[in-house]
Amino acid sequence: MEAKANELGMDILKSTAAQHLLVEDGTVVGVQAEASGTILHVRAKAVILATGSAGANSDLLARYTVRTPEKVRYTGAPGIEGDGIRMATEAGMGECFRLMMPSIGLTVEPLAPFSSQLAVAGAMEPTNLWFNQRGERFANEGLSQAYTFPNNCVESQVRAYSVFDQESFDRLVNEGCLVGWAMYIFAGTKLSDLSDELQRELDSNNPGVCKADTIDELASFFDVDAATLKGTIDEYNGYASSGNDAEFHKDPAFLVPVGTAPFYGFRIKQNCINMYGGIHVNPNNEVINEDGVVIPGLYAVGSECGGYQGETYGLALPGSCQGVSLGTGRVAGTNAAARAQA
Ligand SMILES: Cc1cc2nc3c(=O)[nH]c(=O)nc-3n(C[C@H](O)[C@H](O)[C@H](O)COP(=O)(O)OP(=O)(O)OC[C@H]3O[C@@H](n4cnc5c(N)ncnc54)[C@H](O)[C@@H]3O)c2cc1C
Repeated sequence: MEAKANELGMDILKSTAAQHLLVEDGTVVGVQAEASGTILHVRAKAVILATGSAGANSDLLARYTVRTPEKVRYTGAPGIEGDGIRMATEAGMGECFRLMMPSIGLTVEPLAPFSSQLAVAGAMEPTNLWFNQRGERFANEGLSQAYTFPNNCVESQVRAYSVFDQESFDRLVNEGCLVGWAMYIFAGTKLSDLSDELQRELDSNNPGVCKADTIDELASFFDVDAATLKGTIDEYNGYASSGNDAEFHKDPAFLVPVGTAPFYGFRIKQNCINMYGGIHVNPNNEVINEDGVVIPGLYAVGSECGGYQGETYGLALPGSCQGVSLGTGRVAGTNAAARAQA
């Protein structure tokens, strides 16, 4: 694309942040941008917003999604702060459209599960036992493999944790993880960095990571009632020996007891890689206000134009974010070009 843009004599301004839209009589006529302290006014017959929604903006997450920022770890690209949404609002769109957070999998703060073996071991391995702030199990831990669903389980708890024991730790290192994280850490990968990663988090006093010699110690670290947690673990170990999870019906293959000290505990959070939505558009990808009226000269594409998905990210349809970005980019580009040439 860059080669083609150069061939066509297009200027690409890198490290230049769009700040505001230039609006005259309700029509968008350009952009105000800033580069190294210099303010630029770029006039245009059409402006296309493509700033990627608002994944890194926890205020918008709190206001416009059903998620709680404290239960979410954003592990996507930095700088995706909702600038396009703000600019569209300033230009007359009205309030931000409802946002969707397509959280994928779980993680251990502050780690990203596609690059951290500790995050994969602590948050994604289906053999772990999950417990909440009361020290009780709250879901079938095998759901971790469903990527988009376990987030709802974590969101519905005040706090969520996972635990595994030394035997599981050794299995993860010597035999490999059962699930991994998609194509980033393949299922079956031997987690040879686990010890080093764990030590780094313990050394930095990460309040979400604990290595404990007893369940009492683990419960105290996470401020959970020890007697309840011990009861939960005893019950779960019973399910593991009978091969029958009477509470949540986890696959018996994932019913692994928590019995051999030391124990490894983790605060688990929803893994957010981006957000989706915020700007109202029509099928031409023109930005519309709350009454459906087009803001002339303004288009939006990619993650920040909402309405393509509901509240749960449709992982069954691969490319449901990038595909929308490509498709809407083409639609908006075609229409913006036609407007510019009219
Ligand atoms: C780890 C990971 C895995 C993913 N896997 C998949 C997958 O398998 N399939 C899939 O479909 N999707 C996937 N996604 C999501 C997908 O990558 C995004 O939804 C898609 O890249 C969004 O494209 P976009 O063009 O809307 O925005 P982005 O690609 O986010 O681009 C927005 C750009 O705008 C820039 N910007 C922001 N504010 C300003 C401003 N004020 N001025 C100028 N520039 C600004 C940003 O720096 C950024 O470069 C994944 C995302 C991540 C992080």
